[in-house]
This record gives sequence, structure tokens and C-alpha cells, in this order.
Amino acid sequence: MHNHIILRDVNENNLKDISLEIPKKKITIFTGVSGSGKSSIVFDTISKEAQRQLNQTFTTFIQNRLPKYTQPDALSIENLSPAMVIDQKRLGGNARSTLGTVTDIYSWLRLLFSRIGKPFIGESKVFSFNNPEGMCPECQGIGRRIEPNVEKLFDTTKSLNEGAILFSTFSVGTWYWQKHLNSGIFNPDKKLKDYTDTEWQTLLHGKDKKIVLPLKNEPVKYFEGVIDRFRRMYLKKEINQLSNNVKKFIILSHCTACNGTRLSQEVLNCKIDGYNIAQFASMEVGELSKVIETIEDPIAIPVISNIASRLLNLMDMGLYYLTLNRETSTLSGGESQRVKMIRHLNSSLTDMIYIFDEPSIGLHPRDVHRLNDMLQKLRDKGNTVIVVEHDRDVIAIADYIVDVGPRAGTNGGEIVYEGSVLGLYDANTLTGRYIKSRQLIKKESRKPNGYLPIVEASKHNLKNVTVDIPCGVLTAITGVAGSGKSTLIFDEFVAQHPDAIVIDQKPVGTSIRSNPATYTGIMDAIRDTFSHVNKVSKSLFSFNSKGACPECQGNGFIYTDLAFLEDIRTTCETCHGKRFKDEVLQYKLDGKSISDVLDMTAFEALQFFEREDICRTLQALHDVGLDYLTLGQPLSTLSGGECQRIKLADELHKHGYVYILDEPTTGLHMSDITNLLNILNRLVENGSSVIVIEHNMDVIKQADWIIDLGPDGGRKGGKIMFEGTPMQLTKEGQSLTARYLRED
Ligand code: ADP
Ligand code: ADP
Ligand code: ZN
Ligand code: ZN
Repeated sequence: MHNHIILRDVNENNLKDISLEIPKKKITIFTGVSGSGKSSIVFDTISKEAQRQLNQTFTTFIQNRLPKYTQPDALSIENLSPAMVIDQKRLGGNARSTLGTVTDIYSWLRLLFSRIGKPFIGESKVFSFNNPEGMCPECQGIGRRIEPNVEKLFDTTKSLNEGAILFSTFSVGTWYWQKHLNSGIFNPDKKLKDYTDTEWQTLLHGKDKKIVLPLKNEPVKYFEGVIDRFRRMYLKKEINQLSNNVKKFIILSHCTACNGTRLSQEVLNCKIDGYNIAQFASMEVGELSKVIETIEDPIAIPVISNIASRLLNLMDMGLYYLTLNRETSTLSGGESQRVKMIRHLNSSLTDMIYIFDEPSIGLHPRDVHRLNDMLQKLRDKGNTVIVVEHDRDVIAIADYIVDVGPRAGTNGGEIVYEGSVLGLYDANTLTGRYIKSRQLIKKESRKPNGYLPIVEASKHNLKNVTVDIPCGVLTAITGVAGSGKSTLIFDEFVAQHPDAIVIDQKPVGTSIRSNPATYTGIMDAIRDTFSHVNKVSKSLFSFNSKGACPECQGNGFIYTDLAFLEDIRTTCETCHGKRFKDEVLQYKLDGKSISDVLDMTAFEALQFFEREDICRTLQALHDVGLDYLTLGQPLSTLSGGECQRIKLADELHKHGYVYILDEPTTGLHMSDITNLLNILNRLVENGSSVIVIEHNMDVIKQADWIIDLGPDGGRKGGKIMFEGTPMQLTKEGQSLTARYLRED
């Protein structure tokens, strides 16, 4: 039995006393509809328990400094190994973290230059832009400068009194405005466009900071220009530390001293075969790998072969189009996940548990086999590979399948099938049925009622693309990873049509008390109802009122801040997670307390409530397939796909907007796709235009219009390969997408 991970009687979240034996050193794939309980098994039980058991091997002294993992709700969990979760959380990192630094390839390039670069300038650390000796002294190795955007900061058609300065710190009535702008140096009623050059310069930069302001009852003051002050107060930080409000008023420009390369002139002068290290870092991985292999220098052979094999790993993962100087914070979720995978592939650890969350995200069907190779390699090194996945082509390589269902939330939480992939095809479960079926290609496409043009788009790899996005229809943007889909839509389209609404997978909810009830606004109506029926104040039923449990302030949980680690959450011992004082809980609505209501799923609540506004919102949650969530579930527990769908629920009744969604099938089971298509079609029927970036063939087939980018990724991409209906694409298309559509 040592070759299985054995779970007995697990009851985390919605799980119903499940027991399971997962073969070790094999690939096990967890399937099932969204909300069925896959994450509850894989992340909340296996991964958490592995971490907890590992922590227990340390001394008490160290344990006290580690996060406290509570024991999952299970009778027993045996035969675990250390577990590593490889998810789609962005790699993040600051401006000094690049693809080259996180993969270590840049350190190897530094070593290479220190060995054979000409002229030889020193140790490998000198070639680092994070080292004072190697960094560009002007930008301290960041490669760019953050500058105030004068055009955005001022509305020159207005006077100071009319609020010509658009950044809030300088607006009418503020301290700065009163003390400086409105204190006699400027004519506060003169429109900025009528300023003389001198006045304009004074407004921007002060006047060699020597202007003395004679203010009533005030000592003399120096006047600091708006731009100088803005720079001094707000821009002395790295870009990702700036607040979103400040970011609206800046422009990023290349550092002119190093031309964006981050390095000192001395480092840039050191070359191998005519290239400096910055030029290597700006080549696409695919090109760099060719160049590296032409270097002929016997001293460098070991270093070169090391770099070459690391570059090959990146190419094996389909990331040939990235450059080593790419900041990790700009990588997509799928790209981040693939980079993390590579870091583990090179590790010589064995008998680990690797856990993947939908690793096919962001991959065109052409590249899925690369991912499969990688998963198999990890297994063949003697590791246990556990994958949560919906993609048919990935599911096909499983050694063992665990299908969770039958449906979501309280209607899920059971193992409905375990065994081989072949057996799954015959299983009478949702996965078993849908794995064999396909959407049909849409025959009658809607006719657009107008066009939104993208004109001469040339950001990143786009080759001066001009293309019309049709209005009033469902458009799919397709193409291999790196072909330019996100750049075309998120950089170019959104810049040219700022009123488009992006419905992304970023977390929703600003406070830890946010939940589906507060997010959708029905909490207010629910409190109203409780107050009305019980004839007491509405405020009693609020999380931040006298009625809330004072111990946890209505959270139901106590959060312990662990400085550098993730906060830990324990159930409040005073209210036992009920969030309210006992006296509040005695007020009932049809026998249910406010806490009981918050424990209801949206589906249960839909049966319970009668008020029209509440039911309309609950119906929207049902329509987007989220009615298994409980009303009080913290939004922080929602996955990316769930966040996207809760945002969608908010839009279902709106008319005439332009919506953009990036891979809305993320986290969706094959059987959920019909439902997603219904929702997207409903938005279109409401007079909106919907643009989705998608790889999922079922969605592509059902779009009204397809814009396919290619032919490949990176430099070899950025062109429009096809525009038209799915029918036309299968008939006439020459692109990779066309080929895979025909084969599907
Ligand atoms: P899947 O991974 O299959 O999409 P999950 O395991 O995330 O499903 O969720 C299973 C059920 O448990 C859902 O009803 C979900 O809303 C609920 N759930 C998940 N995490 C939590 C949590 N931290 N607290 C309460 N309920 C949760
Ligand atoms: P897709 O969305 O089709 O996967 P992207 O638009 O993300 O493609 O990428 C197109 C090209 O632009 C790729 O070569 C990619 O590496 C490059 N690129 C994307 N984002 C950035 C960025 N923030 N900085 C530099 N290059 C980028
Ligand atoms: Zn510089
Ligand atoms: Zn409490």
C-alpha cells in the first residue's frame, strides 16, 4: 500500500466523507464540474496536509515561526511526500525580476561573459544590473524612467479655479491649491492655454525655486512647481509600488543613458561574437538558442551547454517567443505557470508530489503535447503528478482519473468515477458524457451592426495591424500563445476604445468581509427584510455594527498576520463562525437567522426569498453557474474563473456595452461550456458586443466572428491570418487554428 496516497473519510468544504487511493509516481487527473470539490481534495486536503506534516518535522522553535496549517477534516491521510503546488498565480516580482533572472539563465550568461567576453572586465557579478558595479548609474538598473505625464495632469482649457490640474492633490480647495496656486503668483481665472511661456514654466517647475510668496499671516514660502512636486512626492518608487491613481498620470520612457538595457556602458562594451549581454537578453529564446550554439570557445563549452539546455527547456514549454529581459510581472498566468514548471524540471528531487492547476490555460491546441511531455517527464523522474484539468487532450494522458461530482456545491463532493481514461469514456458521469461530445460549428452567424476599428497597431510583435472588431456579435480572438492576442486587445483595442469593459479573473472584493451577498448588493435587501419582519434596526444585521461579534468583527474568522507569509485563518471561538451576537441570531426570517441565511447557497436562497430584487440577483448567479456558492463565503476563496463569472453576473442585465474576456473557459468543465455560451449570447442579445480571447474549440466554433493571429508566436506572429465566420475558417483557413478546428 506504500505506493498509494491514502485518504479516508474526507469532509473538507463540500466533500462527503470520501475515501481515495491515489497511485504514487503516476499522473492522476482530477476532473469534474466547477465547484464539484476538486480543489477541496487536491489543495485543501492533500497539499495542505503535506505542508502541515512537513512543518511538524521541525523543532518547536521553528514551527512557531511557520504558518499553522489546521488539520484537514479527514479521518486519515497517509503516505504523503512533500508537495509542490504549481499554479497560475503570477510570478510577480519587482522590476528587477526578469525571465532571465528567475530561470537562472541570466546568471549563466554573466558567467559566460566573465569567461570569454572581450574586453574582459571582471567577475560575473559585474554583468548584473542588480549590482552597483554593473547597473546603469542613471536608472539604477531599472532601464526606464517614470515621468509625469503633462498632458494628463492638466486640462489646459480650464483655469486653476475651474480645476485645471487633474491630479487630486492639486485640485481646487486642497492645501497645495490654497497655499500656492491661489496665493497670488497666478491669475486663478486665466485658462492655462492662455498662459505665457514664463507662466507655464513657473506652474510646472516653480521658478528656480526662489519665488517668495507673500501670504497673509504666513511666513515666506518657496513655490515648488506642480511637476517637480508631483515627481518628488509620488514618483520616487518602483512602478509596481505606485498607486493606480498615480499611474494614470505618468509616462514610462526608456532610460536614455543605457537605452533601456539597465547596464553600465562598460558592461555594454564587453562582447562575445559582436553581441553584448543586453543584446542576448533581448533576443527571443528561440533565436538566442541558435546564436549560443555557434559560439566556439573551448573554455566556455560547459557553460554554453548549460545555457543551451535551459533554453531548450523554455522552448519545450512553447515559450520560445519570450525574451530573457522580459519582466516576470508582465507574464500571463499561463506563462508564469510554465516558467515555474521549468524550475522544477531541472530539480533533481524525486518522490515529490507535484500539483498543477489547469496547466493547459493559455495554450493553443498545437502546444498541449508539449505540456503533456513535461508532465510525463516529471512522473518518469519518480514523482507523483496530480493535475486538475478540463482539457480533453491533457486528460487523455492520465494514468489514473478521479472524477468528482455529480454536480457542484452541496450537489457534488463525491467521487463519481475512478480508474483508467478508457473507463472514463464509458462512465455515466458528466465528464464521461461530455468527453466524447463536441459543439457544432455555428451555421448562422449574426450580422454585425457596426465596427470598432483598431488602427495601425504595432505594440510588441504586432505588424502594423489594422482590423475591425464587429459590434453586436460574439467575436473570438484566436492564435497560438505569443501570437499577439492580448497585446491586440488589452493594449491596442482598449487604448483606442477606453469604454470597453474588461471582465478578468482578478480577485474581487476589497475587504475580507466581502462575500457574494455584499458583492452583488443583496446583503442590503436581506438586512432590510430581517429588520422589517422583526421590527428592529436594520443595522443590527450588518457586519460592522453593534450586532456583529465583537471578537472577530463579523468575519467569523480570526486572521493572524504572519508578516512574510500568508495570513492564517481560524474560526472565531466566540461566535463559532456565526459572525453575529447571540441576540441578533434570535431574530428569524421563516425560522432562519441571518447567519443561517449567509450559510445558504445561492440556489437555496433562490427558493427561500421572494423579494424580486433579491431573486433577480440570485437568478443571475444561477445563470452564470455559481449558485453553489454560499452567500457568506469569503470572496477570497473564489478561483480566478469564479471571480470572472461573478463579475459577469453583474452584467447580465446591462445593454449596449463592449465586453472583453480573456479565456472565460478557465476552470470550466466541458459541460459548463454550453452554459457559458448561453451567457455570452445573452450579453449579445442585450445589444452588447463581446470579445473573447479563447483556445477552446467549443467556444471558437460557436462564435459569430473569428480574428485569428499568427502565423506563430513572438517575432513570427503579430499578423492577422484570418477574419471571418467559423464556417469560413474551416473551409478556407490556412492557419494553425484552422487546422486544429478541422481536426477537432
Ligand atoms: P472545484 O475545485 O471542483 O471547482 P472546490 O473544491 O473549489 O471545487 O469547491 C467545492 C465547494 O466548496 C464549492 O461549493 C465551493 O464554493 C466550496 N468551497 C470552496 N472553498 C471554500 C471555503 N474556503 N469555504 C467555504 N466553502 C468553500
Ligand atoms: P498572446 O496573447 O497571443 O499569447 P501576447 O500579446 O501576450 O500574445 O504576446 C505577443 C508578443 O508580445 C510576444 O512576443 C510577447 O512576448 C510580447 N509581449 C507581450 N507582453 C509584453 C510586455 N509586457 N513586454 C514585452 N513584450 C511583451
Ligand atoms: Zn539606464
Ligand atoms: Zn466571532
